[in-house]
Amino acid sequence: MYHSTDDAKTRRMDAIRDRAESCRRCALWESRTNPVVGSGCLDAEIVLVGEAPGRTEDELSLPFVGRAGKLLDEMLGKAGLSRDDVFIMNVVKCRPPNNRRPKKGEMDACDRFIAEQLDIIRPRVVAPMGNSSISYFFEKHGLGKAVVGEVHGVEYEIEACWGVFRLVPLYHPAAAIYNRRLVEELEQDMKRLAGLEGP
Ligand code: URA
Repeated sequence: MYHSTDDAKTRRMDAIRDRAESCRRCALWESRTNPVVGSGCLDAEIVLVGEAPGRTEDELSLPFVGRAGKLLDEMLGKAGLSRDDVFIMNVVKCRPPNNRRPKKGEMDACDRFIAEQLDIIRPRVVAPMGNSSISYFFEKHGLGKAVVGEVHGVEYEIEACWGVFRLVPLYHPAAAIYNRRLVEELEQDMKRLAGLEGP
């Protein structure tokens, strides 16, 4: 699921997974099967953040394993990256019923998990994918309101308590499944993001 050369990082992420398992801070635990904390490399320089687990993700406890995940893998591959090079997670760890968009209160309930996950990984780039994830990060860092069509590919320098990182919003891969233009935009943004220097 996730890996690191540093056992302490793996233990911290295991503790987050255990806490997410017993979390009751919002009502999503009642209908989900498994929380999905994320997968990939805990030493990664790039963290990709989607919206929330869907049905297959909920069953397997892995992020982006359905159709959107396939497209994400393709985009990563074209940028010279694989899932092993990055960390992939969501702003909400539990599946919302009928795959509805997560509510603000549900994102706020997961805030402590996201903050700690980023503190473990300390990436140089965080890429929120899609409007839910973008609005979470924009609000948290005082960037106001934004929609993905206006801000995708733009770099925002953010000072977090653990260091400085670049926030680079992307289209959500699910939005690109039926839209050739968005596939091209996502591909270009992903390639640029893979080549970014740290701040
Ligand atoms: N969409 C998301 O935002 N996250 C997943 O894990 C799967 C689909």
